[in-house]
Amino acid sequence: MSENEKKTVELPTSITIRDLGERIGSSPIQIIKILMSNGVMANINQIIDFDTAAIVCAELGIDATLEIPEVKEEEFGEVPLWRKLIEDEDAANLEKRPPVITILGHVDHGKTTLLDAIRHTNVAGEESGGITQHIGAYQIVHKNQKITFLDTPGHAAFTAMRARGAQGADIVILVVAANDGVMPQTREAIAHAKAARVPIIVALNKIDRDDANPDMVKKQLADNGLVPDDWEGDTMVVPVSAKTKKGLDDLLEAISLVADSSKILANPKGKVIGTVIEAKIDKARGVIATLLVQNGTLHQGETVVVGLAHGNIKAMYNFLGEKIEEAGPSTPIQILGLNEVPQAGDIFQVVPSEKDARAIVADRKAKLNEAKQNKKQASLEDLFNRFQAGEVRELRLIIKADVQGSLDPIISTINEIDQKEIKINILHAETGNISESDVMLASASNAIIVGFNVEAESAAYKLAESEGISIRLYDIIYRLTEDIEKALKGMLEPEKQEVILGKAQILTVFSFSKVGKIAGCKVIEGTIRRNAMMRVVRNGAVLADNEVASLRREKENVREVREGFECGIRVKGFNDFAEGDTLVCYTFEEKPAI
Ligand code: GDP
Repeated sequence: MSENEKKTVELPTSITIRDLGERIGSSPIQIIKILMSNGVMANINQIIDFDTAAIVCAELGIDATLEIPEVKEEEFGEVPLWRKLIEDEDAANLEKRPPVITILGHVDHGKTTLLDAIRHTNVAGEESGGITQHIGAYQIVHKNQKITFLDTPGHAAFTAMRARGAQGADIVILVVAANDGVMPQTREAIAHAKAARVPIIVALNKIDRDDANPDMVKKQLADNGLVPDDWEGDTMVVPVSAKTKKGLDDLLEAISLVADSSKILANPKGKVIGTVIEAKIDKARGVIATLLVQNGTLHQGETVVVGLAHGNIKAMYNFLGEKIEEAGPSTPIQILGLNEVPQAGDIFQVVPSEKDARAIVADRKAKLNEAKQNKKQASLEDLFNRFQAGEVRELRLIIKADVQGSLDPIISTINEIDQKEIKINILHAETGNISESDVMLASASNAIIVGFNVEAESAAYKLAESEGISIRLYDIIYRLTEDIEKALKGMLEPEKQEVILGKAQILTVFSFSKVGKIAGCKVIEGTIRRNAMMRVVRNGAVLADNEVASLRREKENVREVREGFECGIRVKGFNDFAEGDTLVCYTFEEKPAI
């Protein structure tokens, strides 16, 4: 290399100082010195993010670029029941069926517009002015091949379906707006598709816009494990405009290609099974359910069981609203005749008689009650036991953190944990509070949610409780990773939660040469206890957080002081009290496992 040529290095999103030193051929001490001169105190094992590492490199005359991670061909997620059933069919009876497509992506990236554009351009009924209702799914014909689209966006049960939507589909179309790029819901959709082991085709939408930036989006996709095919990866990225309808044929072509290379099969004569797409109650017609047949052929008059509902099929319609007598694999249909409204995502099956149907439902109700009673589905504490019992093979995590800068080191630290006994699988990692859809994903994939410096929205908590999902919150990375390590070793103690006992305000500060400073306080709320923790708060900032060193009332050591009384307080390791400071006394209680 000539003197003038600048050295370059590719770096990951986060790296330890030691590894950085190795990669750029520089001593860790030198790196630490550069960091210190930039106001960052760090030790050799500390993980720094890409931006920080790039600054260090720049000071050493090295150009750092972000490394594009390799796509991991990992398989995770449980195989849905209908897939298992098809796998169990005799191979000789299997036939090709239309691929089922679901469209996922961030809000406003154009999912609905794209679905409508495909539908209008390809559904004969609409062209001839025929009336079509949205029933949650439709079918088109492209080059003599049928393709079924699930129409979930905009649907009331969208969140519920999204968790399960990918489960019913053979291919996910991930809509990413070319001007906006990969957004939180894009990442979430990727996680859903991966959890359901469904191939992804990216529709790079809004390509007609002046501010469209396909290269930026491709880079972001690559950073999220979807390396575009024109970058020698294996994710098809198709530029489209749902608005001008440009590229729609290419998208359908991509679907055909992926469909041809995937085994999209079923036995039209086999056991009838499928999934509920949506269902509602109509005053005049009773329960109307949209079903997707996945194996076998469903006939009018047959008896079906769906979740806790059952009934004889009184009438059956295709998505154009036309009455039909039978429906084969991958056909979306509406049926009348169920006695209750089933849930989107429920599996239906055909049974010989009403009597059988009632027996199955009674059995399910009993099992449901039992499950409610021991609903510790995915709590970190019992994970190890379940592992030993052979019930789980891996610990699946959904990680939420306040900022990207915390997320990256958490992920790398977790990846460094010894994973001999149980594999750790990070299904989804994202910044922001824990939301209902995180819990949905956790529930769909039996994962645990860990939050770092974030909160769980109250709706998320409620859902977690009813679904039996464990949410654990942390504010120290080390604690988070330590808990995960402990969980893997089966040593995890029940989670503790902070309980505030009381608050006191400093009225005056006494100085003693022997013991240092004592805060002369008045208890303004609750009780202050000696065997507890204390936070010293000044103007909203926490100055100290440590054990109570002593609690005195009129020179007597006491165990507790109640609201309205004055007392002297010392806090371990802290001496800098000032008049007006608030002291918050708290303790830890064991949190019931959720
Ligand atoms: P969804 O929330 O993902 O279903 O997004 P919508 O389909 O509702 O689209 C959001 C907005 O983007 C609407 O105003 C659409 O008209 C607009 N939009 C969708 N597709 C395109 C496109 O290809 N080009 C442009 N310029 N706008 C689009």
